[in-house]
Amino acid sequence: MADGARGRLSGRSCIVTGAAQGIGRAIGEALRDEGGDVCFADINAEMAEEVMRANQERSARSGGKVAWAKVDVTKRDQVRAMIDKAVDAFGKIDVKFNNAGINKPLNFLDVTEENWRTIMEVNGLGVLIGMQEAAKQMISQGGGGKIINTASIASRQGFDNVAPYCASKWAVVSLTQSGARDLAKHNITVTGFGPGVVATEMWRQLDKDLMEIGVSEREGQAIEEFSADILRGRVATPSDITGATTFLASRESDYRTGQIVMIDGGMTLV
Ligand code: NAD
Repeated sequence: MADGARGRLSGRSCIVTGAAQGIGRAIGEALRDEGGDVCFADINAEMAEEVMRANQERSARSGGKVAWAKVDVTKRDQVRAMIDKAVDAFGKIDVKFNNAGINKPLNFLDVTEENWRTIMEVNGLGVLIGMQEAAKQMISQGGGGKIINTASIASRQGFDNVAPYCASKWAVVSLTQSGARDLAKHNITVTGFGPGVVATEMWRQLDKDLMEIGVSEREGQAIEEFSADILRGRVATPSDITGATTFLASRESDYRTGQIVMIDGGMTLV
């Protein structure tokens, strides 16, 4: 954005979780480029602070402020403290991205209670707590706001080797719908977006893990096979995701609620 120009997020205060790297970092940087105030929040405090510092100069040009917070999204007191920190820095919260997520593949018959609980805790409970605490803050400000959850192609289809992850991402869809119905009376919209295969640390790790459990034989094979049918002919980069996420955070999406935007290059046509 040119110096002095107003962006689509100017005057809007945003929090993004899972923002130390990958999709979350890209979402936050895109909001900042549109003039938004952005709090980069992550369980990895060192990296979140580093991302905030890397963004300070550019945010001065785009007009927004930046902050960072350490948060484990599964811990309500930490989520509340993150929101308080962002409110201290920006004065209010208008937009909350619940983006932090994890995966750990196991063959279907090997899935353990621990694997299920760990994944559901971050991807399911973490989103519920994030929605509740953001909504309470927005209501205390007089209502109005946008909550945006990270879903997935795994919210549309069950894939083998990652059953708890798929269950957790279907949960994100139902939480988005339930939240949208409940929070409409407070003028709060709840939406989500569903990436397909995005080249981030998550997929680099998945590729290794899938080799370890015998699904693939060489590095890169799993991501190649999984991506073979993408209609757009390639995997996504985080910057492929941010056109839609900035739209969802902006006033242009005001009439949208309870729905998921797929950004998967045509992997799932439902
Ligand atoms: P990533 O692993 O690169 O980044 C995830 C970030 O979340 C990390 O910085 C990590 O420290 C943070 N995090 C993990 N647990 C946390 C917790 N308990 N509290 C706070 N922060 C925590 O992953 P990514 O690819 O950028 O994925 C971001 C989101 O997008 C996730 O919800 C993921 O499920 C979803 N997604 C990713 C893809 C993909 O192909 N990469 C596809 C669909 C959906």
